[in-house]
Amino acid sequence: MTMPHEVRPRRSGALGATMHRTAGAVDRRFRRLERTAHRRLLAVGGRVECPVCGWSGVSFAASHKPRRSNRICPRCSSSERDRALELWLVDRPVPPGGRVLEVAPLGLLASTARGLGYEHVSVDLSSARADVLGDLCRLPFPAESFDVVVCFHVLEHVPADLEAVGEIARMLRPGGQAVISVPWGPAQAVTEEDLEAGPEERQRRFGQTDHVRNYGRDVTDRFRSGGLLVDEVPWRTMYGSEEFRHHALDGDDDRFWIATAR
Ligand SMILES: [Zn+2]
Repeated sequence: MTMPHEVRPRRSGALGATMHRTAGAVDRRFRRLERTAHRRLLAVGGRVECPVCGWSGVSFAASHKPRRSNRICPRCSSSERDRALELWLVDRPVPPGGRVLEVAPLGLLASTARGLGYEHVSVDLSSARADVLGDLCRLPFPAESFDVVVCFHVLEHVPADLEAVGEIARMLRPGGQAVISVPWGPAQAVTEEDLEAGPEERQRRFGQTDHVRNYGRDVTDRFRSGGLLVDEVPWRTMYGSEEFRHHALDGDDDRFWIATAR
């Protein structure tokens, strides 16, 4: 999700910018090579399987930030939350004329949703990947437009996150559900936010230059205070241990907040 007035840290001068671009290109090339090698060398045995694209192998590739093994699908780049969503969506009955709204799309959900018979629409503040440009706090759709809304790792960027939660609820048709994920700290009792902090302070306190808060254990109550009818659903209660291992659902994310229409 691209934020308004986002301030990116940058090196000064043309040489710095060139070095930065070159380092980024080398890094991306290295990651592509690593994924390709992983895809070819470890695609035997079928010990893990990606439910998004069907790739199977000995293990998934490692993630880079943070470095964690058996996490990223070497074919489609799904992470644990994409795979958990896939399993959830495939199990869910598709209503006639079903519509899915994806906030801040990353490119994995559209083909699954369409394959199941949903119309898939994506929205973002500024991303070229999105079908529609719009602000999550004032979505450009009529009320009760969607059966499923997917909003992954967006709310921690949004200053008025409870307004956004209200908009997500407004989008849901009767019987509709929103699947939300945010990074949160189980060791932290209360959500900490600072809308005035500059990029360096955000990086230090919230882990990214464009995060405005760290959600704590009060995250579900916080969403409810925004009017959302929401359940916090740990994946361990959704999937058995064999399914967990087979789809490598261990990672930084471990649960969804699933909201229903008011
Ligand atoms: Zn995959």
